[in-house]
Amino acid sequence: MTTRREFLLQTTAASVAAVASLRFAHATQANASKDKDKDKDKDKDGLKVARAGVVETVLGPLDVAKLGFTLSHEHVCYIPMGLFSDRAAAADRMVDKLKEAKAAGVDTIIDLTPFDAGRDVRFGQEVSRRSGMQIVAATGFRFPHESYNDQTVEQIAELYIREIEQGIEDTGVKAGVIKVASQSGAVLPAEEKGIKAAARASKATGVPIETHTDARHRGGEAQANILEAEGVNPARVSLGHSDDTEDVNYLIGLAKRGYTLGIDHVFYGATKPAKDEPEYVTYLRQVPWQKRAAYVKQLIDAGFGDKIFLSNDWELEREQMNPDGFLFNTRKTIPYLTQLGVSQREIHAITVDNPKHFFGRN
Ligand SMILES: [Zn+2]
Repeated sequence: MTTRREFLLQTTAASVAAVASLRFAHATQANASKDKDKDKDKDKDGLKVARAGVVETVLGPLDVAKLGFTLSHEHVCYIPMGLFSDRAAAADRMVDKLKEAKAAGVDTIIDLTPFDAGRDVRFGQEVSRRSGMQIVAATGFRFPHESYNDQTVEQIAELYIREIEQGIEDTGVKAGVIKVASQSGAVLPAEEKGIKAAARASKATGVPIETHTDARHRGGEAQANILEAEGVNPARVSLGHSDDTEDVNYLIGLAKRGYTLGIDHVFYGATKPAKDEPEYVTYLRQVPWQKRAAYVKQLIDAGFGDKIFLSNDWELEREQMNPDGFLFNTRKTIPYLTQLGVSQREIHAITVDNPKHFFGRN
């Protein structure tokens, strides 16, 4: 059986090679388009306005008004082959999960699986078509890449822009979000390059950024500093896994700076200890799900209800860990928030309006 790690290492090697060859093809085109009508389609923040109000899904452009109830951070577009006999079996299982989520009111899933986490947008297209779930695919990166050390920030940005404007590999599927990550509190040099490239790609295209952070070590702050130095508007950035902390002031500080906080690991606080689990998983389990959910209420009370995303960071490999899957928040977090006094209107604002504004840029 191939473990996730082995699978990721294999696909990463293949993707890095593909990236290197795409890079040169794109460089010429980027230079050619740079000159023409430089500021014609920019709004007052210097962003492109061509895409305002539209988000790209794996099945094509979508009016943000149709996003509906949106999960901001999940993993759909990859096949854990170690778990399934074949691709068809994985697709069948994912379609079941997506249909179940759709029946329970989920309209859209933001898939944050970039190339180096095994991204397969054709798989995403198939399960989107069969389930009716709207799925947004990501460009960007998840792991620090030695290859990034040999590339300039501009070269990395060109690849992200290519995946946003022309499409991912030869699928024609355009990325609707840029995913970046840093492993811990500090940002490694290769990660910094990827984050700067994401900043430039976001500014050039208007597509927003969603991140993986180590909130326990205040990793969102280090990312925020880099993004702000690059001139990114924090309103275009969501810092993921922000509930992996015991310090609500960490979240409030970032919300004050204008960032959207991804409350997307609530389920971890409801998981059982596993044999030989890594230390960081033990930590994640020990932040209770109710405490994580309560961050939502605390952010609302502090005036930041418009800076919250709710999601489940689910993937097929987490079926045992989180049997509620895409519906953990629907079944547990939201009813708990209702008990805490959060209104239906506030829940609607978080799950429907916040994604609409974030992706629609208004
Ligand atoms: Zn994730």
